[in-house]
Amino acid sequence: MTTQTATQTPTSVSFLGLGAMGYPMAGHLVKAFDSVMVWNRKFDKANQHESEFGSKAVDFETAVSADVIFSCVPTSAQTAELIERAKPYLKKGSVWVDCTSGVPESAIAAANTLQELGSHFIDAPVSGQTIGAINGTLTVMVGGDKSALDFAYPAIDCFAGRIEHVGASGGGFAVKAINNTLFAVNSWALGEGLSVLKAHGVNPSAALACINHSSGQSFASSATFPDRIVNRSFPKTFTLDLMAKDCGIATDLQQQAKLPAPVMAAVASFMRAASNQVEAGSADFSEFIKFLENWSQVIISDEMTTPKN
Ligand code: NDP
Repeated sequence: MTTQTATQTPTSVSFLGLGAMGYPMAGHLVKAFDSVMVWNRKFDKANQHESEFGSKAVDFETAVSADVIFSCVPTSAQTAELIERAKPYLKKGSVWVDCTSGVPESAIAAANTLQELGSHFIDAPVSGQTIGAINGTLTVMVGGDKSALDFAYPAIDCFAGRIEHVGASGGGFAVKAINNTLFAVNSWALGEGLSVLKAHGVNPSAALACINHSSGQSFASSATFPDRIVNRSFPKTFTLDLMAKDCGIATDLQQQAKLPAPVMAAVASFMRAASNQVEAGSADFSEFIKFLENWSQVIISDEMTTPKN
């Protein structure tokens, strides 16, 4: 076990998990830190990051001995694996910032584990999609110890447009799960609405132009549908299985609170059903629409065909 101690302000930062989000997020850290270490399971990506951003591709043991350690992996299960492996190498006083969209209970467990080792864990999931990661404008919703957030703040700030401390451990993950479920609800409802309109002969882009200047407007109507669905481009930046996972976390929270939330629960099931139709990681979240289209037999594109009766 290392005997080093983190300084008052972080001097070394590292990033584990250079995926669609982590790769660009880690790229921003070099703006503020001389020592930015990156590690990825498929190590080629770490080498590529070093060449592109001037970070340093390092082995796992070195990466987790930084003052601030970021992780951004698919689920809390992978974060837990990384923490388990990192335990002997963590620096006392270091802060682990998990940007995964994870499970609140796992955040509480991780915070307890790291506290026993003299380190800290904060859940800090992000919103803003890959474009927000590239532009460094992500919304970061943080749960956990406020002083740990204060320590890591200058590092998080490198890729954030907004940082919000929402409460104790798990709070950040909870807000993220509900946020994505609201996005899923809006997306699903808009898919239904546009199906009905198209069945009545209305062009989807014309309908969206009206909706986007009316009270039905949402991120789904202003971005997801015009940019991904109506033009049938479905760029793969956030996969359908990750969306289904986030909605599932929200459903679990609803059950734990013993609260009725039938709209969120139904849409979580729709997203799970849509995700189960495709191989994990193979479809963008916007491809949920194909599942709905299979039911309605109405394709949400501007190509006008005679609707089936
Ligand atoms: P990706 O699938 O693009 O990347 C996943 C990363 O995790 C890769 O670096 C992968 O490594 C690594 N990884 C997977 N399994 C393991 C493991 N067992 N051990 C170590 N590393 C592992 O995912 P995203 O970047 O899209 O998503 C990451 C998180 O961010 C998710 O929780 C997601 O819900 C959330 N998120 C995603 C957004 C998006 O628009 N994509 C937006 C906001 C949040 P390798 O390269 O070796 O496979």
